[in-house]
Amino acid sequence: MQVRRLFFNRTIKLLHLGAAIFYAVIMTSDTMTLGTSTQTPPAHDASLTDLEYLDQHGLDAKEFKGLTYPIGDHAPEYGELFPLAAGIGWTRLPVPGLLNHINIWLLDDEDEKGEGVAIVDTGLNMGESLKAWEKLFTGDLDGRRITRVIVTHFHPDHVGAAGWLCEKHGVRLWMNRTEWLMARMLTADVRDEPPQEALDQMRFAGWDAERVENLRKRGWGNFAKAVAPIPVSHVRLDEGAVIQVGKRNWRILTGGGHTPEHACLVDEENGVIIAGDQILPRITSNVSVMTSEPTADPLGEWLDSIAKFRAVLAEDVLVLPAHGYPFTGAHNRLDALAAGHHDRLDALEKALGEKPMRAVDTFALLFARKIDDSVYGLATGEAMAHLRHLEHTGRAQLDVKDGVGWFSKPS
Ligand SMILES: [Zn+2]
Ligand SMILES: [Zn+2]
Repeated sequence: MQVRRLFFNRTIKLLHLGAAIFYAVIMTSDTMTLGTSTQTPPAHDASLTDLEYLDQHGLDAKEFKGLTYPIGDHAPEYGELFPLAAGIGWTRLPVPGLLNHINIWLLDDEDEKGEGVAIVDTGLNMGESLKAWEKLFTGDLDGRRITRVIVTHFHPDHVGAAGWLCEKHGVRLWMNRTEWLMARMLTADVRDEPPQEALDQMRFAGWDAERVENLRKRGWGNFAKAVAPIPVSHVRLDEGAVIQVGKRNWRILTGGGHTPEHACLVDEENGVIIAGDQILPRITSNVSVMTSEPTADPLGEWLDSIAKFRAVLAEDVLVLPAHGYPFTGAHNRLDALAAGHHDRLDALEKALGEKPMRAVDTFALLFARKIDDSVYGLATGEAMAHLRHLEHTGRAQLDVKDGVGWFSKPS
């Protein structure tokens, strides 16, 4: 219990940072029932797209809001390996809070030393999550050698245990260069107090003096608390590159907006994408203006990425998301994500026609849920992303008065 509480408290502090690290459930209000299945997983060589086979083994496909979940809401326990398709294993690790878990993919691999397993994404560098890894290494992965660690993007639930895993197994980290640099930078930047410019950004968004002062007291550099030291070298995952992992070839497809260059892995031949946080089935990925780029338009990048993925991916591609259940229906999901943002942008533009607004004035309009202290920073980042996008596309104008940003209809 002690460990669990410590784990939870530390992560709550992280969430308070408001550093746009976790994902918002705040733009979607619907939920899906989570159930634990006691059914036996299919054999190693079962393809997930073979619905007939899976039907015979009792894992029923489910349809929900235009998406198909080929094995319904079956998911592995923490630290348990579920053989999902030929050469693709699936496990889950715990993540505190709304997110609940992260999906980890374990790919059959081969290198100069022979057969082994490549890990994709790593979970937080925290007690419960590392315990699940140990369970896996002494259990379902016992006797298997780890060949490399692949990470989709720099967020702590994805890169957190990468350094620990690389060191433990003596293997390299494979990651997009920008994402690796972000993780290196954020783990190195630990100070007693936030720099003034970070506090000024919150004032700009409309935070009152008390809230800014509370942020100042919380220190700076909480990212490093959930992330093991990042290896000093990496192997680059560049847009368009093809990497061979075991018998499968994966093309790197990068997206922006959630993080700068989030890497997805696409097996075109077999119609599978390891999507990370770029396409989630149930929750909307967090798209926030980040401290590192206060004037940027991440929502513009996100919408561009949605269009790019929509054009590149086959409609029936099997999506392996970082959170939630494997699904097909990528086009429907991408269309729904884009429509959700456009709907909020239109509503926001209309409201700005009535009166100028700061980021904090837009919460009720943008989010279906009440914004309390625990998600105030996250909501600020997302609200700012919507306002900046309107500004960047000429649909809003920005006036700064006494350090506070007011957005209004262009005059
Ligand atoms: Zn993420
Ligand atoms: Zn994630």
